[in-house]
Amino acid sequence: MENNRIGDNLKAILKQLPAKGVELVAVSKFHPLEAIREAYAAGQRAFGESRVQELEAKTAEAADSMPELRWHFIGHLQTNKVKQLLRLRPALIESVDSTRLLSAIDNEAEKSNRVQRVLMQVHVAAEETKFGFLPSELLSYFRNREFENLKAVHICGIMGMASNTDDTARVARDFAEIRALFDLIKAENPDLRGFNTVSMGMSDDFPLAIEQGSTMVRVGTAIFGERQY
Ligand SMILES: *Cc1c(COP(=O)(O)O)cnc(C)c1O
Repeated sequence: MENNRIGDNLKAILKQLPAKGVELVAVSKFHPLEAIREAYAAGQRAFGESRVQELEAKTAEAADSMPELRWHFIGHLQTNKVKQLLRLRPALIESVDSTRLLSAIDNEAEKSNRVQRVLMQVHVAAEETKFGFLPSELLSYFRNREFENLKAVHICGIMGMASNTDDTARVARDFAEIRALFDLIKAENPDLRGFNTVSMGMSDDFPLAIEQGSTMVRVGTAIFGERQY
């Protein structure tokens, strides 16, 4: 690896973020701990991982040497992996895509006497393969005030992905839809506390996401290079 390539990439991306109001999550999935160390040394603190197994291996090694590191879980989470994930103390689970999963997280968090921060994942993209609530489902969830039943989960906002296409108008429209949904939920539920995060934007589209009102971008390839699957 060239000297400080990751640090340089980080700097270049941070320069494209507004001075305030947009948090950068460095998506380190499929990259070795060495890459994370390099980013951490350059000042990065929030890292995104998408598989429980991989996160478990990394937390074990990272705990002592990188005490300020915060893990965001961003992948599809199976209910039977919730317990294992919560033991790793993720700062934020960004990918809650069903009420069943939400309940499982709530129950596990309550058992360990902690509050788990999460984002609800919304599906607006053209691809059917992507996970998440439909906008209408998410609206109903909040209109029915189902969140009042949560004992140990704090819903901090929503996360979404745009369609995987070069059509920037379509991508911008997807981001605008995610942001509008967030604004509507917030307007309809003014008592929702700490509901303030719109996680959208990845390596190829984060500037567009920011234009449309993102408050959190999840960037992997543009920081760490291509993933080796
Ligand atoms: C992998 C991944 C990212 C990062 O994608 P890049 O294109 O490498 O920036 C962001 N969000 C989610 C949910 C991901 O799975």
